[in-house]
Amino acid sequence: MRFFIILICLFLPLHSAVAAVDIALRGKDPVRLKDVYQQRGVPYIAIEDALAAVGLKGHWNSISHSFLISTKHGRAEISPASSFLKVGDEYYPLEEKPRFIDGRLRVTDSFILNQLAQLTGRSIYFRNLDPDIDNTPTKQESTLEKLFAFFLNKKTTASGPLIRAVAIDPGHGGLDTGVIASSGYKEKQLNLEIAEKLAKQLKMKLGIPIYLSRDGDYELTMEQRLQSASREDVDIWLLVHAQAAFSTAMNGVTLFVRPEEIAQDVAVEEAAEEHLSDSMLLANELALALQERSIEVRGIYPSSRLSLGRGNLPTVQIELGFLSNPEELQQLQTPEYQQQIIQALYAGIRQYAKQSKEKIDGVN
Ligand SMILES: [Zn+2]
Repeated sequence: MRFFIILICLFLPLHSAVAAVDIALRGKDPVRLKDVYQQRGVPYIAIEDALAAVGLKGHWNSISHSFLISTKHGRAEISPASSFLKVGDEYYPLEEKPRFIDGRLRVTDSFILNQLAQLTGRSIYFRNLDPDIDNTPTKQESTLEKLFAFFLNKKTTASGPLIRAVAIDPGHGGLDTGVIASSGYKEKQLNLEIAEKLAKQLKMKLGIPIYLSRDGDYELTMEQRLQSASREDVDIWLLVHAQAAFSTAMNGVTLFVRPEEIAQDVAVEEAAEEHLSDSMLLANELALALQERSIEVRGIYPSSRLSLGRGNLPTVQIELGFLSNPEELQQLQTPEYQQQIIQALYAGIRQYAKQSKEKIDGVN
């Protein structure tokens, strides 16, 4: 829920002095754009406005977290906090990164005069009407933009150990309770309990550092959660949650991975293991290990949330069960069932580590 609150805040406009620019394809009548932010002489123009002014179309893709532009050279793509324009499989460097300001993704005059001109195949007329205005609210650089700057990378190398460290994120905390069962039992408490027990088990059995994003009942920002996952030695990131449904009959564990990682698997004709993304491999192993211990697994799904971050760090969000199901709610609070889940997660992680090691060794 927290993420949506951040989003809403960003979309509240904060207008001060207005900057404006004229844009046109050479030889055509210029279009005046007034929704322009300027910082130290660099104008930031909403990408949609700039495209419309030169007769191109594009849209924000919430799955790839990037802005897609249709051009005669194929699909072009820019992302906040990335200093490249991607056209087809090629990457072209940008002078300034696109930025989210006042809720819109914006590019600079340099992008319009260089990259956009190339994409249209025509030269572009650009005039800044107020080059001296400085109207960019500095506070707005934060939040969403910072989140996009996190790129969680997969790091394990062939020569290294199976897994060097695991980051575990117990969902919610503090005022953010997560799901509340009819008994008053709160998701945040279950998440922390399972995360701490799993951390202990992994530390003991694998002898590696385990980083918990929180070790008590307090709230974290999305950034703080991503920060613990972006440590140099982290090879796996697990997010621990529990869910609720209108039907009290729904039960079982559900696993989530980044949408693009499932998309990748659908794209290949035969979903052979070697084509699976690492997050999918990890999710598969976790699912198998849970099923082997007679724990119901509902499936592996794409997460619609940005909470899994961007990148290819093997990442799985585990929804432990339904607090809306009275039986499961009770079960989830017993040390025996918790232990069963933890043993399964540990076994799944170990199996994944073995497999990915074999995969790397096989390539070399
Ligand atoms: Zn949750």
